[in-house]
Amino acid sequence: MISYKIDKDGNTIDLTYIEALITAHNATWLTRSAERTETYKTAGKVTHSSHIWSEIKEVYMKMQGNKCAFCESELEGKTSGKGVHDVEHFRPKNRITKWQSTQEFNTLDIAITDPAVSKGYHLLTYNPLNYSISCGPCNQAIKRDRFPIKGNYNTDMENPSTESDAEIPLLLFPIGQDDVDCEDLISFEGAVPTVVVSSGVPFERAITTIEFFRLGRADVRGKLFKERCFKIITINSILEGVDPANFDTILKNMIANYSDHSSCGRSYVELLKSDKTKAAEVLSEAKEFVRTYIPDEELD
Ligand SMILES: [Zn+2]
Repeated sequence: MISYKIDKDGNTIDLTYIEALITAHNATWLTRSAERTETYKTAGKVTHSSHIWSEIKEVYMKMQGNKCAFCESELEGKTSGKGVHDVEHFRPKNRITKWQSTQEFNTLDIAITDPAVSKGYHLLTYNPLNYSISCGPCNQAIKRDRFPIKGNYNTDMENPSTESDAEIPLLLFPIGQDDVDCEDLISFEGAVPTVVVSSGVPFERAITTIEFFRLGRADVRGKLFKERCFKIITINSILEGVDPANFDTILKNMIANYSDHSSCGRSYVELLKSDKTKAAEVLSEAKEFVRTYIPDEELD
């Protein structure tokens, strides 16, 4: 998982920047969305049955390099992807449902607040810093209306950027400047995501994000693992016989933020530079996974 803090051209991705992209894409969207938010403020809930966030889907697709915000899978592009992906609300707009964590996760003893609240974050329905584009498994099968936190739910929140630290979301939000850099907390050992920090809230947020989106579960996200393994195998093949000093230049596109599984790719390149023996083991495991892979992606 990576953060989108700077775009391809070096621009800082923040609310001002995203709003400018939105307006360039659709001149009236911000005004219309602000009107809707005012209506929801009066009503205390979302009142429209139709929505307008799909109109700015392309802004996020472009910003994220057509990758899922959470698992880094490549999504269909502008032409064929428009009708497929939906805009994911990080903080759910209508309701918050409880995340059923696994028994294995529960042994970590991370306190999760019971979402015993009657409504969702209705005032963030049209907040550009509450959006991302994600793949079907991450959004429709896993995320849905779930939003595990450690602190207190504030469903009347109007602006996540100026909010106090009282909520402590347990999922990382990858877009903009408000959250930490995901790669400071999550790295990869081969195709397997690992937590970089060892304790405290940063550890809890990283491990919850991995567990929640099943990013480390080859049994239920085999396709995702296969893609990461292909990335490792391809990188290895391209870099064969290349001076390590030239690795980053040669792989520029393949490990850039706009490339799929860039975090996994970057971790493998670093391993190739630092520990050739371990890198060879990782490559061997990747080949074995691809060789024996049978499609069976059951999400429970
Ligand atoms: Zn995904």
